[in-house]
Amino acid sequence: MSPTRRVLIIGAGIAGLSAAYDLSRAGYRVTVWEGAPFLGGLAAGFKADHWHWPLEKFYHHLFQSDHAIIQLAQEIGIGQDVFFRRPITSVWKAGRAYPFDSPLRVLLFPHLSLPDKVRMGVVIAYLRFSRNWQRFERVTAHAWLSRTMGQRAYETLWEPLLRGKFGDHYQEVNLAWFWARIHKRSPALGYFRGGFQHFVDTLASQVRKYGGVIETHMPVEHIEPLPEGGFRVRSAQTTWEGDAVISTVSPQTFQRLAPDLPATYLEQVRNLRSMGAVVMTLALKRRITPRDYWINLPKQEGFPFLAFVEHTNYIEPEHYGGDHIVYLGDYLDPDHPYFQMSDEELLATFLPALPRFNPDFHPDWVTGYWVHRATYAQPIVPVNYSRHIPDLRTPIRGLYFASMSQVYPWDRGTNYAVEIGRKVARLVQSDIPVR
Ligand SMILES: Cc1cc2nc3c(=O)[nH]c(=O)nc-3n(C[C@H](O)[C@H](O)[C@H](O)COP(=O)(O)OP(=O)(O)OC[C@H]3O[C@@H](n4cnc5c(N)ncnc54)[C@H](O)[C@@H]3O)c2cc1C
Repeated sequence: MSPTRRVLIIGAGIAGLSAAYDLSRAGYRVTVWEGAPFLGGLAAGFKADHWHWPLEKFYHHLFQSDHAIIQLAQEIGIGQDVFFRRPITSVWKAGRAYPFDSPLRVLLFPHLSLPDKVRMGVVIAYLRFSRNWQRFERVTAHAWLSRTMGQRAYETLWEPLLRGKFGDHYQEVNLAWFWARIHKRSPALGYFRGGFQHFVDTLASQVRKYGGVIETHMPVEHIEPLPEGGFRVRSAQTTWEGDAVISTVSPQTFQRLAPDLPATYLEQVRNLRSMGAVVMTLALKRRITPRDYWINLPKQEGFPFLAFVEHTNYIEPEHYGGDHIVYLGDYLDPDHPYFQMSDEELLATFLPALPRFNPDFHPDWVTGYWVHRATYAQPIVPVNYSRHIPDLRTPIRGLYFASMSQVYPWDRGTNYAVEIGRKVARLVQSDIPVR
């Protein structure tokens, strides 16, 4: 089959590469333009010289329900590199971490009464086994959870989670978002041998194998629909012309790139809101906690970050040259001062909190640190969000928009990036078949 349809994919994150994989295999002439110098977007890794595996800039793991990405890993020949373990996930309360990842551990949690725990357990079980999320999107998680599970359980455990993820917007988030987490998440967490970058690089090499071209350092500046059909797309260096364009960038960027879209669609894109993320990675000479992988930190406990993630209590330090790896992360409005502070200032803000996890901690344990920031990291999903999501097909024939904000009701994640990438590829194939 001679590939006569030209498709440009903007962004070489997991959504863009998944779409590129399907389209290049189907005979399209695929070009992927990535603005950054690296592939993988939010799931990309980085590597110190003495590490064997790259490490995600933002902590990442899979859940057992992440079938789309696990299946794609199998298709591209690296299914055997996905493995699952059950690391300890805890919640911080009054000076210590309590494991909180099984019914037994919830029963042992001392800061709630037995009736509170039973009531909470019934509510969580109800959500886990419900399938009809549509009715859950009509109410906020805040209103529904505080009413059904009771004020004490909600304020102790779930309100901190919502506040942590959504800051001042926490009372706006709908219950379907919370339901999706409870419904889909597993205590066993998955990872790739060689990190998520291994998955990204293998997917990219498959795209190339099928004739796709992937170029980095190629920030797209403008998408112009042509009067005779098709598009001209301009990057800082060059232009591309072809039949279809898939954009996987943030809503904020997309509306800037495609100003010719009809006003109603642009308005929908403009109304999508999100939180940013700031994550510091520390390389340490010693472990900080004896066993915790993940500790959720309620804001009222006064930590300068939301999540403490001791990655090497999940994945062995040998893969990082013996370094112990800890992430300190937070979700923040994109105008939060953490986005402006220097890395050194952020380190000085975060380090004093570490003796709370281990009184022996000393700053000279730190052998390296890195800060990664993303202004588009977590979509905010208010009540009746499904009515406001822009279609993957834009009103301009041949122009598609597929972002984290559109994987709803699921929470953003690499699994759903695969799903939406493959979905948008199917739309292209049905709208603009290979000649
Ligand atoms: C802190 C944090 C923790 C996370 N934890 C997990 C987890 O544990 N498990 C999990 O599965 N998922 C997790 N995720 C989510 C996951 O990383 C994302 O859902 C997924 O990577 C999104 O992929 P994407 O391709 O849709 O978008 P992106 O990865 O954002 O890709 C978009 C790409 O477009 C590029 N781009 C932007 N502008 C332009 C332009 N003008 N021209 C060309 N290219 C451009 C970007 O550089 C980027 O590479 C986490 C995310 C964050 C921020």
